[in-house]
Amino acid sequence: MAESEIDLNKTYDAVVVGSGAAGGMAAHVLTSRGLQVLMLEAGKKLPIEKELRSMEWPYDNAQRGELPPDRHSLTFNEYTIRNPPYGPGFEKSKHLHSYIGNSDYVKNIVVDERENPFTGTNYAWVRARCLGGKTNIWGRLALRLSDYDFKAKSRDGFGEDWPISYSDLAPYYDKVDLYLGITGVKENLPHLPDSIFQRPTKLNCAEVTLKQGLQKMGRVLTQYRAGVTTDGLKHNKYRSRCWGRGACERKGGCDIHAAFDSPTGLIYPAADTGNLTLRTNAVVREVTVDPQTGKASGVHFIDSETMKDYNVRARVVVVAASTLESARLLLLSKSPLYPNGLANSSGHVGHNFCEHIMGPGVTGQAKDLVGKPPTLDDGRPGGFYLTRFRNLAEKHPKFIRGYGFEGGSGARMFPQGTDAHGFGASFKEEVRQNQGSYISMGAFGEVLARYENYVDLDPVVKDKWGVPALRFHYKFGDNEHRMAEDMKETAQEMFEAAGFKITHVSNRILTEGWSIHEMGTARMGNDPKTSVLNQFEQSHDVKNLFVVDGSAFVNASCQNPTWTIMALCWRSCDYLADELGKGNL
Ligand SMILES: Cc1cc2nc3c(=O)[nH]c(=O)nc-3n(C[C@H](O)[C@H](O)[C@H](O)COP(=O)(O)OP(=O)(O)OC[C@H]3O[C@@H](n4cnc5c(N)ncnc54)[C@H](O)[C@@H]3O)c2cc1C
Ligand code: SF4
Repeated sequence: MAESEIDLNKTYDAVVVGSGAAGGMAAHVLTSRGLQVLMLEAGKKLPIEKELRSMEWPYDNAQRGELPPDRHSLTFNEYTIRNPPYGPGFEKSKHLHSYIGNSDYVKNIVVDERENPFTGTNYAWVRARCLGGKTNIWGRLALRLSDYDFKAKSRDGFGEDWPISYSDLAPYYDKVDLYLGITGVKENLPHLPDSIFQRPTKLNCAEVTLKQGLQKMGRVLTQYRAGVTTDGLKHNKYRSRCWGRGACERKGGCDIHAAFDSPTGLIYPAADTGNLTLRTNAVVREVTVDPQTGKASGVHFIDSETMKDYNVRARVVVVAASTLESARLLLLSKSPLYPNGLANSSGHVGHNFCEHIMGPGVTGQAKDLVGKPPTLDDGRPGGFYLTRFRNLAEKHPKFIRGYGFEGGSGARMFPQGTDAHGFGASFKEEVRQNQGSYISMGAFGEVLARYENYVDLDPVVKDKWGVPALRFHYKFGDNEHRMAEDMKETAQEMFEAAGFKITHVSNRILTEGWSIHEMGTARMGNDPKTSVLNQFEQSHDVKNLFVVDGSAFVNASCQNPTWTIMALCWRSCDYLADELGKGNL
């Protein structure tokens, strides 16, 4: 993609901060509506295919795919015994990464924790500062929310309802499906609406056994609904259809871009309209305000390499820096008119922060598959999704809301079971005998959006660019702990019903943040006293300011957020373009 030069004398129609799922979608919608858009991205544009090296064999990599010795990625235990910022105690490592930065393939995609510190309560905060953000390595599970989520308060009394219903968003989910491609199978479930699916992947033997076992319990297992184009996209020359190499599962990305990523899915096509200017290495540190009108006037950014400061002007500011970074930016944007930060007259910016709780899960073995001839099972972009079954028709006595499981089975390049004891020929034989028979799954549950779970600015600690760091005040509550107990029990119950031998049960709750699904720090609502944005992700206080990422979520649901982030963003940017055209912004 050819980058055009930023024009500091120009007033752009819109400046978009961030280039992940949300920023990319904003760029796509606004440029296709004819707006002149400037996209500012804090990170570099990486040669992503060279980073991911999807076809590299383990033995062709000096460290067999592991991190080079001068780098370290935080482990579960390190998150629990050390306090943020996580720099101290790891002085021997030149670079320090979050738990997800544990391979040679993603080491340059995720941030260095020392350059990007945060403080407060423990949080496994995974950030990708590069063009495309976290979409370069996301897990691809692309799910819709339903009115069980949008109207959750009406069902159980907790929190707030969203100011929209599923019917408002459904046409935009459809647009996202058709523009980006998604694989899956229709199930007609009211709590997990179907997408417009391309060719589905196949379940393997043990997965089908589990699916059949669950049918008797009224529970549904379906193929992994992956944000991957299996049929190809005629309108996008940057993406190939899925070749079924499974590299996205092993290495965390897809170098032929069958799996959606924001650059090839959204940003390069937006640039082809001639309406997009992209500036990477641009760390936005403030949304500027016109003191006469109170409206946003543009942004102030620092070049991450030269440390030089710049101001750019725009008629509309679209914040899409990801849920936590967007809250940070609003809080950083203090002025005499907005002393608590921008768009924050409600005091809710940074609050109602929510995500998914993870950890409980189960591993088992389908005994009838032991010793069967080897199969090729990991040539697909995901295994299965076991959909929510709690608090739908019946009310659980111990907790509200729900959870689902992600899982998989079958023979893989790195066989399950290699952690068994032993060595030599007998060990190899044992692995060969057993490998295709293992099946495992782990739960993702809704963390309630509570006002007291929040982030603010640390008064002392700053990042490499002198920008105040974020401080976390965030803990799982009783509802989450009770839900996690249930996850562990139902996981076993379902494997037993399928006739599997259970080999491992995990009841350990992973550190807050592990799900990498952050939401809620600038929630939408009808009441400006208790919400930051309206239903179009437009600030109640500053009408030419939009926040179009997971910040706008009112609750977390238990379904993964990215497809919803993009559907909401598309809807909001359509409204933005209409309003700008009418002179209302
Ligand atoms: C390993 C992994 C697995 C995941 N699996 C799934 C999954 O299966 N399903 C799912 O739905 N979601 C999944 N996610 C989450 C998904 O990636 C995010 O929901 C999605 O990327 C959010 O998009 P975003 O645009 O809000 O943020 P990001 O993708 O993080 O993009 C934000 C961008 O803003 C830039 N930025 C930040 N601050 C500034 C600033 N001050 N100035 C300029 N630019 C800035 C960042 O550098 C970044 O490029 C996963 C994430 C990871 C890492
Ligand atoms: S399985 Fe499909 S999406 Fe995954 S790496 Fe291979 S081609 Fe890409």
